[in-house]
Amino acid sequence: MKLKRNDKVIILTGKDRNKIAEIERVFVSENKAVVKGLNIYKKSVKPSKKSPKGGIIEISAKINISNLGIVCPSCNKVSRVSYKITNNKKIRVCRKCNASLEAVK
Ligand SMILES: [Zn+2]
Repeated sequence: MKLKRNDKVIILTGKDRNKIAEIERVFVSENKAVVKGLNIYKKSVKPSKKSPKGGIIEISAKINISNLGIVCPSCNKVSRVSYKITNNKKIRVCRKCNASLEAVK
């Protein structure tokens, strides 16, 4: 899986094309991810414990990973993921500027 939670990504297709946001969740087995606040669809729900009134709620739908491009936090360009081995660890780096793509903890 090339993308991880909190990666900044750009959506390459669909109605939210060219919008940038962070990944909220990655579904490895499905090769999909949920991006914060994007690819929203409205769903009508019946009243339940969670939403006592029911009505329409907004949900971020899963997006296929192949429809997402990573935005490098260092050069701010839409890039691709490359790998580099540093101290026996495989880290993801930006193919354009070679900076690490791993989120600073
Ligand atoms: Zn870069």
